[in-house]
This record gives sequence, C-alpha cells and structure tokens, in this order.
Amino acid sequence: MKPIVLAVSGHDPTGGAGIQADIEAILSQGCHPCTLVTCLTSQDTHDVRKLYPQHPETLAAQWEVLWSDMPVQAVKIGLLGSAEIATRLGALLRQTPCETVILDPVLRAGGGTELADERLIEVLCEELLPLATVVTPNLQEARRLSGKELPHQCASWLLERGCRAVLITGGDEPTPLVYNTLYWKHHHKTFTWEKLPGGAHGSGCTLAASLAALLARGLELEEAARKAQQYTWNAIKYAFRPGRGKKIPDRFFWS
Ligand code: PLP
Repeated sequence: MKPIVLAVSGHDPTGGAGIQADIEAILSQGCHPCTLVTCLTSQDTHDVRKLYPQHPETLAAQWEVLWSDMPVQAVKIGLLGSAEIATRLGALLRQTPCETVILDPVLRAGGGTELADERLIEVLCEELLPLATVVTPNLQEARRLSGKELPHQCASWLLERGCRAVLITGGDEPTPLVYNTLYWKHHHKTFTWEKLPGGAHGSGCTLAASLAALLARGLELEEAARKAQQYTWNAIKYAFRPGRGKKIPDRFFWS
C-alpha cells in the first residue's frame, strides 16, 4: 500500500503554496496525501493579505478521527496560522507520536507579509522542534528562530532543541549558486544547485512535502534530502505564471 503522508498546513487559493502544494508534491512522490487545514488565507501570487486560523478544537477533532482510521507514516507541518493551533498540534503529536515529522517553519511570505508572531515562534521552538525529524528553514528563518548568524550556529541551536536534522536552504540568498546544507548528529552535507531566476511561490512547501513523502517511502535521510531538492529544483525550473505575480512550481513537470 502507498505510504500515507499527512500535510498540516494553510490553504492558499492560488494553488501555489500550502495544502495544494503539499498534495501535489506528496502525490508525485508516490504517497497518499491526507490533509488538515490550519488556516485559510486570502492571497494572490504577489503576497498574503490575511490569515483566518482554524479553531484548535476543530483541528483536534479532525486529527483524532483521521488517526483512528489510518496509519499515517509521516506528518508534514507548514503554515500554522496561530500559536493556539501550534500548541494544540504539539499536544496531538505527543499523544499520537509519528516516526517522521517534517517541520517547515513558515514565518514570512515571499511577498513580505509576516505569517508568525513572537508567540507562535516560541511555540515552534519549544513545542514542535523537539518532535521534528527534519526542520527545513531557509537561512532567514533559521536566523530568526535561533537568534544566531552563521548557518552552522543556527543549525546547532536548532539541533539542541531536539530535532534530529536540519536542512537550511539558501535559495533566497544573494549568492551565484544555491547552497542548501543538511545537518544531523555531528555531520553536515552541502548540496549545490544552479540558481533559477525569479524563484517561485511555494518552493519551501514543495521541498518539505516531497521530503516527507520520500522518508515515508523508506529512503535514508541524505538520499531523501537530495531527491527532494532535485524534485523541487525541477518543479521550479518548469514553473509557470498563472497570475500577475510570482511564478508557481510545476510539480508535475514530467507530464
Ligand atoms: N500561504 C501558505 C498557505 C503557505 O503555506 C506559504 C508557505 O509555506 C505561503 C503562503 C508563502 O509562500 P511563499 O513564501 O513561497 O510565497
């Protein structure tokens, strides 16, 4: 049977990021996506305008019904929308532990809107980081969570909070190539990619969701991280522009 990956994230009506990005990425890696929506959003391909967080008890009720029916192999956490939702999710994950938890700490939209306040950042660090198998911040998010400057300092701080691995992405950095570094135990490995012009709305969701699916299929961490990056790079290479703002990745680029 196909492994089941549960995406817990926000809904983006443009289809570029959030739950839809997760569904597409998980499907294209051969897993079955299940979804829990943390918040609705109004946004276009330029920026997020507003978040409408779900009530934490609604999320909890959906979680409990789903988990009593299906064996979930991996959970992917994206946009949370409120500290209350994040706190409830932490409690649910402690109650029903999952072997693979990918945490994408979404703090700010590509267009600049803040998507997490200080309380949510605190809950992310204290309640969710210790439960994460891999956390996938970009360098700016890693700096904001840790208060450190250099990538390896950020990674050490995050690993000390209890997550098993950290994948810091550098796609938004002003470097000629993209450097993404995976840190685990006392190891690290840097992956280097050609920089694609313009970037794309929903790249982070694509990476984290495909990584969750590849780990659910049983790949080792380093190989899953490499394949998820390759998949995301291809999806960005074939990105298209359905609106007036940013491009969105083509997560079925081979079709
Ligand atoms: N909206 C939702 C629902 C998201 O999950 C995310 C990112 O994860 C965003 C918006 C922001 O996407 P981006 O930073 O790629 O523009």
